[in-house]
Amino acid sequence: MDAGPDEKLVQVKGLKKYYPLQRGMFSPLSGTGKEKYLKAVDGVDLSIGAGEIVGLAGESGCGKTTTGMTILHLYEPTAGQVFFEGRELDRKSAGALRQFRRKAQIIFQDPFGSLNPRFTVKRTVMEPLIIHGIGHTEAERLERVRFALELAELVPPDQFLNRFPHELSGGQRQRVAIARAIVLEPKFIVADEPVSMLDVSIRAGILHLLQFYADELKMGILYISHDLSTMRHICKRVGIMYLGNVVEIGPKDSILDYPHHPYAQALISAVPIVEAGFTRQPLSIKGEISDAIDIPEGCRFSPRCPFAMERCLENRPELRAVELGVQVACHRY
Ligand code: SF4
Repeated sequence: MDAGPDEKLVQVKGLKKYYPLQRGMFSPLSGTGKEKYLKAVDGVDLSIGAGEIVGLAGESGCGKTTTGMTILHLYEPTAGQVFFEGRELDRKSAGALRQFRRKAQIIFQDPFGSLNPRFTVKRTVMEPLIIHGIGHTEAERLERVRFALELAELVPPDQFLNRFPHELSGGQRQRVAIARAIVLEPKFIVADEPVSMLDVSIRAGILHLLQFYADELKMGILYISHDLSTMRHICKRVGIMYLGNVVEIGPKDSILDYPHHPYAQALISAVPIVEAGFTRQPLSIKGEISDAIDIPEGCRFSPRCPFAMERCLENRPELRAVELGVQVACHRY
């Protein structure tokens, strides 16, 4: 388990999301008879505290988005546990899931695709209130919508209520998507690449909003991104994912300046440094991320690792503490 803050809002233990693969027409004759799975998430441990932004980084295909979706139970977990405010989420209870979904929301990457083009801003932001039966009257709901728009800095809110998505800029659309997520006053948000499709000039405003929600409203945020510079900007802790697993996690400065895991070192050393007097030795790794079907027996990074030893091929390393708050899954430590 990663060493997060004492106050754990969300705790994830051994989370897995496997997808069974379709058998080919001839596989019953030629195959081993074993079912094969795509292991998108394969035993993730993670925690997020109230008011904390935790970053999750890694190459495309490492499973970071699936991790976020599975924590929220938008994808049903194959195995593992999710604790919310100290209690394990009972995924068999429709009531418990509904309560959780009210308190745990997601902001998607694509503000163009995530909004219904036929819905006004008012209808888009009000819909979660209707679904969850919040507010006795239309007027009551409208007050909440206005407040959410203000918190998303779409002001004055009345100027936006009757607009459609095509009448908004990309940044405004993402703010509407954010207003829709926060109108339920959630305690936990998964922000999945929330600024990657926006112009650089408007990214800072959206990141500032997330920071405000964490600092002032004490929301816990899982910030999923491949962009390490934005992580440095807003995250308190950062986790690096590789092939369905977190391989290193800890305070952002430790992870981004002095990574331990060879994959984290390679990922981070690929980002140019602009600070004077700070240099970092590049670490090159061979090949590309393997597919998530035939994952190596031992360390899943071993086919690409320049430091691989015999034991790396046989034993899978677990996350363990190497220094204050930092955990690494590597036999070198
Ligand atoms: Fe490399 Fe071995 Fe560490 Fe895996 S466990 S990252 S193969 S040194």
